Amino acid sequence: MNTDRSAQLFAQARQLIPGGVNSPVRACRAVGCDPLFVQKAQGCRITDVDGNTFIDLVSSWGPMILGHAHPKVVDAIRETAALGTSFGAPSPLEVELAELVCAAVPSLDKVRFVNSGTEATMSAIRLARAHTGRDVVVKFDGCYHGHADSFLVKAGSGLITLGIPGSPGVPEDIVKNTISIPYNDIAVFKQTLQERGKEIACVIVEPVAGNMGVVPPEPGFLETLRSETTSHGIVLIFDEVITGFRLALGGAQERFGIRPDLTCLGKIIGGGLPVGAYGGSMELMSQVAPDGPVYQAGTLSGNPLAMAAGIAMLKILNRPDFYTDLEDKSDWFAEELTKIAQTTGVPTRLNRIGSMMTCFFTKEIVRDYTSAMTADVARYADHYRNMLAEGVWLAPSQFEAFFLSAAHDRDVLQRVLAAIADSFKKLMN
Ligand SMILES: *Cc1c(COP(=O)(O)O)cnc(C)c1O
Repeated sequence: MNTDRSAQLFAQARQLIPGGVNSPVRACRAVGCDPLFVQKAQGCRITDVDGNTFIDLVSSWGPMILGHAHPKVVDAIRETAALGTSFGAPSPLEVELAELVCAAVPSLDKVRFVNSGTEATMSAIRLARAHTGRDVVVKFDGCYHGHADSFLVKAGSGLITLGIPGSPGVPEDIVKNTISIPYNDIAVFKQTLQERGKEIACVIVEPVAGNMGVVPPEPGFLETLRSETTSHGIVLIFDEVITGFRLALGGAQERFGIRPDLTCLGKIIGGGLPVGAYGGSMELMSQVAPDGPVYQAGTLSGNPLAMAAGIAMLKILNRPDFYTDLEDKSDWFAEELTKIAQTTGVPTRLNRIGSMMTCFFTKEIVRDYTSAMTADVARYADHYRNMLAEGVWLAPSQFEAFFLSAAHDRDVLQRVLAAIADSFKKLMN
């Protein structure tokens, strides 16, 4: 495979941008490769600047649930752009997207749009702290909630992959208010609330963890979070930046039938443009400025291009069979993948819910951060390189999800499975 142009761009980028990338995992260090620079993407395929085309299982880390450059989304962006790209004043598109989002997500009465998932979670904990008059945030080991200071404690893939324990530059004064405890551990959770409940403003969780690889909640885990936070007067925040519009139109909260107090959204909501959102009940959201005292703002928030892309995307997701089709395809793909692992004898553990999954290279059941860490990352790196050579674009880290989209048809997935079978055979030699 010729990658000269990517290599050239990477050398140039490293002179200009830290590590040559604008988000660390993209540098592909965990798999021992240099990044390929992307020229374009269409449907389930992505093409680099040297003209190599791959089947894409990263889906821009989640947003591209319709595949790349969906004509309806592209048209919406183009038509909106011709009318001006930012106004700094309200526009009708914000109302339309807010209506779609509040109708889709069960716990949302009101929603505020921001520009990224990071901004959504950062704003949600500010609101929770203001509402409760308490400072402490409880999160779970291996869950990622964006890069705001309070969350950079045992925070999932980017940090695992780079081996950075939290981050320098985050004051201890801030992190002392963050408690990180094991995912899926009901006993530790209950004990934490018993001991420190009166100091805790909020519990924030990925209802299905996606940033230590996919780790679904065990039966009773989310239910316990709901009941215990209620009885301690703590705000329960679902970070649905990945799961929102991914596991169902109404996200994990629809799928599991549990209503958080606040919900954070991102990724899919912007149709591939930078949008995040947070929302909840009338009571909570009425405390956000200008209705209430909790300050939060954004020059480009509710940007018309981003709103138009989100609206176009959500309208398609709203079609009756969208999620059942995606689910059926994902069921079939996961079964086939499991068969390949069995026949080739590669020790793997496939964690999946809906169209998000991770194939961990371990024999252990992966139910939390500690068990995720038993995965053989060197083997994943070999697998990654095998797959790239076979024309399949995987996430450059073991501790990430891969995502199927509406654009991955069974023929394409059959080719992916054939590539996996080849790669697994090589891994066993
Ligand atoms: C990606 C992600 C974020 C951060 O979103 P950005 O748009 O990258 O700031 C927050 N929470 C979860 C669960 C995510 O997967």
